[in-house]
Amino acid sequence: MSLPVRVRLTLWYGSLLEAMLVGLGAFLIVRLRADLVAAIDRSLDTRAAQIALDYTGDGEEEFRGVSESSLVAVPRGETADQVLSPSGTVLQSAGDEAVSQEPMIGAADLARARRDGAGLRLTAALGADREPFRILAVRLPDRPDVLVVSESLEDVDRSVHRLLGLMLLAGPAALAAAGGGGWWIAGEALRPVRRMTEEAAAIGPGRLHERVGVPRTRDEIERLGMTLNAMLARLERSVDEQRRFVADAAHELRTPLAIMRSEIDVSLASDRLPPAARAVLRSAADEVGRMSGIVENLLTLARMDEEGGLEILRAPVDLADVAGDVARRFQAAAGSKGIVLGVSAEHVVVLGDRERLLQAVANLVDNAVKYTQPGGHVEVSVRAAPGRGRVVVADDGPGIPPELLPRIFDRFMRADAVRSRGTGGAGLGLAICRGIVEAHGGRIRAESEPGEGSRFVLELPVVEDAGPVDPAGPTGTMRVR
Ligand code: ADP
Repeated sequence: MSLPVRVRLTLWYGSLLEAMLVGLGAFLIVRLRADLVAAIDRSLDTRAAQIALDYTGDGEEEFRGVSESSLVAVPRGETADQVLSPSGTVLQSAGDEAVSQEPMIGAADLARARRDGAGLRLTAALGADREPFRILAVRLPDRPDVLVVSESLEDVDRSVHRLLGLMLLAGPAALAAAGGGGWWIAGEALRPVRRMTEEAAAIGPGRLHERVGVPRTRDEIERLGMTLNAMLARLERSVDEQRRFVADAAHELRTPLAIMRSEIDVSLASDRLPPAARAVLRSAADEVGRMSGIVENLLTLARMDEEGGLEILRAPVDLADVAGDVARRFQAAAGSKGIVLGVSAEHVVVLGDRERLLQAVANLVDNAVKYTQPGGHVEVSVRAAPGRGRVVVADDGPGIPPELLPRIFDRFMRADAVRSRGTGGAGLGLAICRGIVEAHGGRIRAESEPGEGSRFVLELPVVEDAGPVDPAGPTGTMRVR
């Protein structure tokens, strides 16, 4: 996974600043050293000119005096001067003795200095402790000898090291301060993006009318927010159109299906129907029944999605009654498939819509009977748990593949499309169950081991003092989405 933008920005910014500080530091150090060496060169020029002018070749004493007086006007570090014969012998020496008594330049440099009228400049490590010196060698006028003047570079190196030390201290501190500032600025700049991301993530299919808050910053962030909102508006329009289409289509299909069903029933009532035709009509009646179920489910879901949501009555409902009713309704279907359908129920009263709760539990039992192989078992149980009533529909059927289990309550989700097409509907039953249960403030979950069966657990909050159970007397209604 790549790093968050804030970290990346800070790293980029820090690296750029570091590169700039290193570049600037290196430039300053090189520049400072070059300037200091140039100043020494100028002082060497002055001194060499003065010594060459004053020195008459009158021996050691004179040379020392001339060398000493050349130092009067110039700022000085440690110096060493000497006169070399063409063969490289030190004829005269003055200044630092450890350095000036040995030839400061080699034979090749000496020859070049004698040839070149402008003199020869070089840097060399001299003396026993190899101290760096800046050297100027010039031929003395009217003589074969060469004058060598030099000055130690120790002060230059000290200044350069001092600057380097300062930079090594100040550089990381500046880098840390700038990095912290960059981190804070990036955080501030990205804060509206983070907020809009959270708001957009919270907008689910049922809340498409909501919008993200757009900061009035007149920049890319404001444009991003406006674009997100425009996209949400387009999404809302198209989802609305789609819902309306599904609801209208389901509504339009209801009447022709009901007419087909009653016409088939009338035809089946006739005594003169040949057995083959009767079988065909029965099969057609089954298919029409299945289609009607799907159309009803689509209508229910479309209502859940509508502006006001599905209307839920609120009245005391005994879950044991609901379980009993559902079991009675499916007893025949289970029996004809050789499935044992059992019920074990405690009386638990919840506040809700009896018809809708019946629909939810019936969907679960319908599935259990549908998907369990002949000879299997389906058990419906109702138990009271602290603050909740729990309905469990368990079977020993084929179970649900683990990868589909987390999405089993999504619309149009079917574990096995081919098998379900033969046996089941359109994958809407469980989505409706969840809608109904959540509308009652409850929860539904599925547990399954493939090959061992499935368990659907439906939990509803119980209401203390719910009053007498009277399905005909709703105490109020609520709308759920
Ligand atoms: P359907 O109309 O296809 O039954 P549902 O939403 O009721 O739609 O179920 C979704 C899918 O979950 C089914 O197609 C089936 O594959 C799987 N399923 C549901 N209940 C069971 C069960 N008791 N045993 C095995 N699979 C089940």
